[in-house]
Amino acid sequence: MFSRILIANRGEIAVRVIRAAKELDVETVAIFHEVDKGMPFVHYADYAYQLHSDTPKNAYLDMNQIIEIAIKSGAEAIHPGYGFLSERSEFAQAIEDAGLAYIGPSASAIDSMGSKTKARELMSSAGVPIVPGTKKAITDFVELFSIAKEIGYPVLLKASAGGGGKGMRKVLSEDDLKSSFESAQREAAKAFGDDSVYIEKYIVNPKHIEIQVIADKHGNYAYLGERDCSIQRRHQKLIEEAPSNILDEITRQKMGEVAVNAAKACGYYNAGTVEFVMDRDKNSYFLEMNTRLQVEHPVTEMVTGIDLVKEQLRVASGEELSFRQEDVKLTGHAIECRIVAEDPFNSFMPDIGTINYMREPGGKGIRIDSGIETGCEITMHFDSMLAKLIVWGKDRADALNIMESALKNYKIKGIKTIIPFLVTIINHPQFQNGWFDTGFIDNVYEFRVLEQMKEAQEEVIAAISAYSFRKIKQNGGSSTGIPSQQQAQSNNWKKTRSYKGR
Ligand code: ADP
Ligand code: ADP
Ligand code: MG
Repeated sequence: MFSRILIANRGEIAVRVIRAAKELDVETVAIFHEVDKGMPFVHYADYAYQLHSDTPKNAYLDMNQIIEIAIKSGAEAIHPGYGFLSERSEFAQAIEDAGLAYIGPSASAIDSMGSKTKARELMSSAGVPIVPGTKKAITDFVELFSIAKEIGYPVLLKASAGGGGKGMRKVLSEDDLKSSFESAQREAAKAFGDDSVYIEKYIVNPKHIEIQVIADKHGNYAYLGERDCSIQRRHQKLIEEAPSNILDEITRQKMGEVAVNAAKACGYYNAGTVEFVMDRDKNSYFLEMNTRLQVEHPVTEMVTGIDLVKEQLRVASGEELSFRQEDVKLTGHAIECRIVAEDPFNSFMPDIGTINYMREPGGKGIRIDSGIETGCEITMHFDSMLAKLIVWGKDRADALNIMESALKNYKIKGIKTIIPFLVTIINHPQFQNGWFDTGFIDNVYEFRVLEQMKEAQEEVIAAISAYSFRKIKQNGGSSTGIPSQQQAQSNNWKKTRSYKGR
């Protein structure tokens, strides 16, 4: 095992990796941009080095600087987390070239799966069913129109280099095809520096089912069951769970074997995820393989009892997996909610500010993977996910009850989060009975529930502020009896508002 590793990431995932390393008696090195100097991951690591760059985001993308720090700090390996450099084969290669270990798959495996079109090509030749469509980027309109007609509308235009739910465009009819294609290309060029766009059949309201796989360098492969990540907003996951209520044991095993074959097809080792969409008839089609640890990996850990990050470290250091396929047993049910700093009552606008109070829920079956603490500042430079709340129950109903109660007891002040929105999803009858797919938020969820909550909250706020203004008047706080604007905006008022409102 390594004696020291560097974590090339920030926030909750950096904390998560540091935690696993500590439990294995591995020392940890954090890297951080100045705007992050007050964040928990910096203090939690044994050593922390500041990065220098033009923008905060670029700091965590500066391969050379990160590898230099790794060497200087005496780290033997680098964990990339997710996002940032985690799916860049050049990074994995440069780390190996510098004589360090990359805690992830080989550069060539990242390469084979990095482009969605390349991955589709490889998977279909390995016999893995892919969503109908092209395996190459579309280059001319004749081809575009004829293929769209052949596979049938609606179709989905996707950036070959896409990720994070970005670079996708649904097209309902021929009329919109040309303009959608052109804007998809522009968007892809801007977001990913590559304007390749290909076409897939749009599967109407499927389930997103993904399989966790892991392999070592000794030829041991295992699948760890599925995660249902169908609750999405703008193609981004919000709530994930394991197992999925629609998979039976035979389908689970079949999909697991398909995922392992996908991994074998690119000589994969370390942890990875094979993503599928599943239609109403339970046909599943390969979407992509994420060649890294995923945001939602904890739900798999909760139902299997396997620590995926520790296994990642074992594999990268050349050890064998600590278990075999036959040891993998799924127990109970786990659900994860992403705690995102957006205002559900104001068009999900990302929020920034200082966290001035925080109380995390606790108790049996509750796990929090968090990147924040009281006093730290949330800036606009990074992804708005602050933390993840993961619960485990003996069955789905039990897990749902624990989740509802935990969400309601999760208090974060000073910054708006989507917690109230998550509560309404967890309580939704159709989510509770398991009849949901990726269309849930768009087609089933009633946003007027949020409107009603907002109105109710405003009434409470009005009542409280009227009350406190009277108090101010009684105490002679304001000579006119009408509070000045300054007083109305004072911290006290804000505190009362957020306390009573949430
Ligand atoms: P997961 O299944 O792990 O949630 P996502 O595709 O949602 O996978 O990506 C995980 C994180 O990585 C996201 O929070 C996002 O910020 C980041 N990410 C992934 N791909 C990209 C990309 N191409 N550009 C920017 N960020 C990305
Ligand atoms: P990303 O790299 O951004 O994660 P994915 O290919 O994994 O992109 O797709 C993200 C989400 O978009 C899926 O989970 C699914 O909800 C939706 N999606 C992608 N492809 C299709 C498709 N062909 N039909 C229907 N939905 C799709
Ligand atoms: Mg995906």
